[in-house]
Amino acid sequence: MISRTKIIVVLVYFIASAAWLVPSNVHGQPAPKAIVLAWDGAVPSFVHELLQRGKLPNLAKLIDGGAFADNVLPVFPSKTASGFASLWTGAPPRITGISGNRIPRTPQSQSTVTESSAAFNSSLLRAEPLWATADRVGLKVFVAHVPLGGDKSEHGIHLQGYGGLVGSDGVVNGRNSKPRPAAAWENLPPSSEPPLEISFTIGASPFFGLLIDDPNDPEPGYDTMLVTTNRNGRDVKARLKAGAPKAKMTTLWSAVIDLKRLDNQTAGTYLRLFDLKRDGADFLLYFTRPTRDTTSPVERANEIRAAAGVFIGNGASDLYAQGAFGPTILSGGNGTAEARYLETVSFVQHQLMETSNWALGHFPWNLLFAYTPFPDEAEHLWRGYLDSTLPGYRQDIADRLRPFLEEVYVRCDEFLGLFLTNRPNNTIIALVSDHGMEGINKLVAINRVLQQHGLLVMDRQGRVDLSKTKAFYPTINNGYLLINSTNRKNGVVTPEERGEIVRRIREALFSLRDGERSVVTDIIDAQTTGAAMGIGGESGGDIYVDILPGYDFDAGLGPGPLIAAREPHGNHGFNPQRSSMRTIMVLNGPGIAAGQMLRGVRIIDFAPTLARLLRLPAFKDASGRVLEEALSKPR
Ligand SMILES: [Zn+2]
Repeated sequence: MISRTKIIVVLVYFIASAAWLVPSNVHGQPAPKAIVLAWDGAVPSFVHELLQRGKLPNLAKLIDGGAFADNVLPVFPSKTASGFASLWTGAPPRITGISGNRIPRTPQSQSTVTESSAAFNSSLLRAEPLWATADRVGLKVFVAHVPLGGDKSEHGIHLQGYGGLVGSDGVVNGRNSKPRPAAAWENLPPSSEPPLEISFTIGASPFFGLLIDDPNDPEPGYDTMLVTTNRNGRDVKARLKAGAPKAKMTTLWSAVIDLKRLDNQTAGTYLRLFDLKRDGADFLLYFTRPTRDTTSPVERANEIRAAAGVFIGNGASDLYAQGAFGPTILSGGNGTAEARYLETVSFVQHQLMETSNWALGHFPWNLLFAYTPFPDEAEHLWRGYLDSTLPGYRQDIADRLRPFLEEVYVRCDEFLGLFLTNRPNNTIIALVSDHGMEGINKLVAINRVLQQHGLLVMDRQGRVDLSKTKAFYPTINNGYLLINSTNRKNGVVTPEERGEIVRRIREALFSLRDGERSVVTDIIDAQTTGAAMGIGGESGGDIYVDILPGYDFDAGLGPGPLIAAREPHGNHGFNPQRSSMRTIMVLNGPGIAAGQMLRGVRIIDFAPTLARLLRLPAFKDASGRVLEEALSKPR
């Protein structure tokens, strides 16, 4: 007979376990919590250089007390969406279905080789990610703008700001909006110079700017811009001062500016007046990309917005590269344009940190995922000039750009510092990244090679003629070709013909030369080695191609050169076996060995390892291994 006390003890035990809502281990300790911070595109060699010079103190601390891998193998293609899909699931692209930032459309039988889908889309993910497993066992996740981080879960909060972008960032200046005397204004503020007005729109929202010489500002001449939605000096949305930030950078940025939207959803932007000439003739006003809210559950949106503002997403890398912030160092500038760009980076990072800060203090998460698009964005801009192996490398340019890229890494380190400072007890902190970066200054037009060899045929309108095309390099640019097989819509290559077509593709691509050098270095058939390499599959490629370092794929069609020079830049997406594509991973906290250097680590090993540490159920789709050598030995 079972005693009454025993029943009560058993009941108490069950209630106690349920109260933890986490699987408890043999020692009776609650499973740890975890913070996962993702730096997009961290380059190991640069990280080491900065660590040696003491520039990344928080990362140094994380590495000292944890397990560190600096040669992490990404996936093929080594792109952002495919990398994060594999980081979160422990499975390669063949299994996740995410074989690039855009992927061939499925099902194959209803899609042609030219059709594709955007792949920053959790509904396309075919393997279970960490956050979903955690949610399934009742844990609370907080996911902040993480690629493939899910739109919603039962217990968690998901922010997917990239899905809420509704426009581009931009600049307003004296050329596109010429200052004129302010007429028909009500309640003009005091000004030592006659007020001037400008008008501009962001998205569909019209704004006025009033330039004044604030009598309380010792700065001579025009020194202040008031931004309004009507000609009323009392209805001011932002009061902006120009100039370089002195102390706290954020004080020169506006608060959130609401934008009108037709669908009744809130969208917001921020303003920054980078320059205002004393005579009022010219100015430089920057606005961030308008975004609408994507918080799930929606009930949390106002609270998070009040604490952290609206999502910004990226720095102004495109505008900077176009010269909209003034001449860049590459075009003879004095570094002002770079400093302005860097300020946009800092502001993005600040907003992301405020978002995480809200979660640290206001939501009882078990698993917190945070993401920053840096250093990737800046690596794309500058790696081509910092890579001394590229022909045409200029030491003077590299020396002037390097400090700016360093600062971007320093901002990433500050983000990590936020978590180290506010780390709750019994919490793991993991730092992950999705790929490395390589300097590029040449382009290889794969489709033109296919055209020359009769494998790709264009019709008179310049479109791909699917009735005559055997193989195609899709514009989604994932380093793989698709064979126009009969199992695809409008496909023509039968299974019997496939072998011969692959032979002709190899012959065509291997014959491509730049001077003496053969440009294509490897051709991999996913039908034969795809399962072993984790590539191919329903939404993957058929033939994966590797090319020489310094060369990038060009999906261009029609007349043009096979190989062309281009301005140096950084890129990734290439064969993950290349050392330049490798990245970093750090694990630190309860259950993790301190001071451990990890070898032979792959991106797909992250999820199984974190799942073990958090005592989550085994990952059914994961093929990565648990990094046993990273785990501390039980005492
Ligand atoms: Zn990138």
